[in-house]
Amino acid sequence: MIILKSSRELEKLRAAGRLVARTLEELRRHIRPGVTTAELDRIAEEFIVRHGGRPTFKGYRGFPAAICASPNDVVVHGIPGDVVLQEGDIFSVDVGVTLDGFIGDTAWTYPVGEIDDEAARLLEVARKSLEAGIAAAQPGGYVSDIGAAVQAVVEAAGFSVVREYTGHGVGREMHEDPPVPNYGPPGRGPRLKPGMVLAIEPMVNAGTWKTKTDADGWTVRTADGSLSAHFEHTVAVTDDGPEILTVVD
Ligand code: MG
Repeated sequence: MIILKSSRELEKLRAAGRLVARTLEELRRHIRPGVTTAELDRIAEEFIVRHGGRPTFKGYRGFPAAICASPNDVVVHGIPGDVVLQEGDIFSVDVGVTLDGFIGDTAWTYPVGEIDDEAARLLEVARKSLEAGIAAAQPGGYVSDIGAAVQAVVEAAGFSVVREYTGHGVGREMHEDPPVPNYGPPGRGPRLKPGMVLAIEPMVNAGTWKTKTDADGWTVRTADGSLSAHFEHTVAVTDDGPEILTVVD
């Protein structure tokens, strides 16, 4: 069941979105060669709690940390630990914040120091595919218009879109209906309506779209070891079009 949000609820989702966006801003200042992913997780959790929020991911189905920390071939759901970021890595951070009962969910992939041209192109294309997906979140359209827009950008650049993981509705729960795939034909499934709030989150691989999961049960990697990038915003569908909630102001 898709839960439409009232204007009061949207206000709360904006506040949660702002705090989670500020958390990413804070993390970005600390992403550099030599830092461990556990250190970044500690910084994120402290920042969230200091600003009155709760790290949504921590404890979610037993996930042990505030952020998902996913370098290089890790697609999503990497567990922070003693991994040291290296010059030339790409590093995806996914973070959720619960504030006053509502959730903001966002992710970004950052270069660590200098990265090579192909990695830079992957980040650029993945970011643009998120922009295209958001632009497709128009009232009166269809949820599947979002994935079609994402897929077109990604495949035109010769990259691939992950199939097994999707975006989702967001509200009081982190994962609400509807699922928001990043591929497939437009014009299918539920209609987009004002009051819908969606996490749009393309996961883009340099090689195959196929993935595999580590023995820890969480860490998802590209099946072929190629690089993967992940960008996510929480977006409200409004009468005037899409509104990105996970922004600093
Ligand atoms: Mg999400």
